[in-house]
Amino acid sequence: MTIQTSEVDWTETTSPSIKSHTLQNFRDISQIQEMSEEKQFEMEVIGNVLPFKANNYVVEQLIDWSNVPNDSMYVLTFPQKEMLLPHHYDEMAAALKSGADKKMIQETANKIRMQLNPHPAGQMEHNVPELKDGTKLYGMQHKYKETCLFFPSQSQTCHAYCSFCFRWPQFVGMDELKFAMKESESLVQYLREHPEISDVLFTGGDPMIMKARIFAGYIDALLDSNLPNLKTIRIGTKALSYWPYKFLSDNDADETLALFEKVTQKGIHLAIMAHFNHQVELSTDSVKEAIHRVRKTGAQIRTQSPVLAHINDDPDIWAEMWKKQVQLGCIPYYMFVVRDTGAQHYFGVPLVRAHEIFRNAYKKVSGLSRTVRGPSMSATPGKIQVLGVSDVGEKKVIVLRFLQGRNPDWVHKPFFAEYNENAIWIDDLKPAFGDKFFYEDELASMFANDIKTTGSDVSTAGGGPP
Ligand SMILES: *Cc1c(COP(=O)(O)O)cnc(C)c1O
Ligand code: SF4
Repeated sequence: MTIQTSEVDWTETTSPSIKSHTLQNFRDISQIQEMSEEKQFEMEVIGNVLPFKANNYVVEQLIDWSNVPNDSMYVLTFPQKEMLLPHHYDEMAAALKSGADKKMIQETANKIRMQLNPHPAGQMEHNVPELKDGTKLYGMQHKYKETCLFFPSQSQTCHAYCSFCFRWPQFVGMDELKFAMKESESLVQYLREHPEISDVLFTGGDPMIMKARIFAGYIDALLDSNLPNLKTIRIGTKALSYWPYKFLSDNDADETLALFEKVTQKGIHLAIMAHFNHQVELSTDSVKEAIHRVRKTGAQIRTQSPVLAHINDDPDIWAEMWKKQVQLGCIPYYMFVVRDTGAQHYFGVPLVRAHEIFRNAYKKVSGLSRTVRGPSMSATPGKIQVLGVSDVGEKKVIVLRFLQGRNPDWVHKPFFAEYNENAIWIDDLKPAFGDKFFYEDELASMFANDIKTTGSDVSTAGGGPP
């Protein structure tokens, strides 16, 4: 593998402009045309329920079409029949075949989506912060003391969509489910009122979908306010893997990089929380050069991904990813467990298996890759890491600990669940000793008014993000 460190003039070469492939035009892709009509119809059925958007970079440079339908990048971006449960599939297929009008199709889709549980456990209400004057900030989440998430209203989309993504309600036009805010003023005001916050994490969708001029509006508002508590700006993004030209040849590439540099020159740490699901995403010349240019601004790139069946549920893939990331100057950060994707039955990996993948990958890499933590569930009480399987006396247990907690004092205290190799989430686990996990009473009192206290976070698994 060669690493590009020289300046390649990407603007002089014929750099592509983005061409999106969606439900409306995916049948124009030549490789899709070679597939049977039946296969194309299956995609249409799924694509009417789950978000579907690929682009020319993904189609031409990341997907290995000779390996379709098993190719990881193909599964990551193109709808597969098995992503919907059979009865949901049949329902949408029947609607399409009956020649139902747009509105009917839309209603059928929404009905199925609601059953896919887009925002479990009153997530939207739990984490909505308020200003001292009582204004609710629906475009923000403040769950862990030091870090608040910010969802700019202009970043509710991505350069392509991941088929597992649980942020899909934001992309498919169910407006009432959107998290977004227009004003960076409220963000600044909130940070003033909360001196404990040191990190602002821009998320979405993908904030790097915003034109530099728009993004600058948010960044300048933060920089100009000279908040003494603001130490770090993070950007959760998948642009490096889905559209590296954002940092190379797009007409706002230089402006974007200049903005990054403005942040770091001000003495604020800029952390790009980059979402990479597979080592293929790190293999093209364009991504390598994009990483190089981003790092030159003084920004650090930290990487994260969920572990996903059909895409990366293999320790070799993770070891390879981490090694490549370190070689390119990125810092492995989180491995997540997914739960609330639209297609949990398709992508889900049980906790015990996720830990095995983590451990077997971790074994194969040097200490420089071992900055990564996981597998971690972003659940209602906090980020819970599966530390492993062990025996306590006669009892086989799963050892867990918080990496982040609603109460910061919960972190790094190992606790034990009964061994259960099918469990995919904390809700599936039972305490190994006693009848409650140590945090449950306290969590329940935090949510005295809510009914359910488990669930997962809508905020950051994308790898997301973010
Ligand atoms: C993961 C996450 C963060 C960031 O946590 P770090 O461990 O600091 O990276 C912040 N807010 C929410 C809601 C999160 O899920
Ligand atoms: S995981 Fe991230 S990049 Fe992928 S669709 Fe979701 S928000 Fe977009």
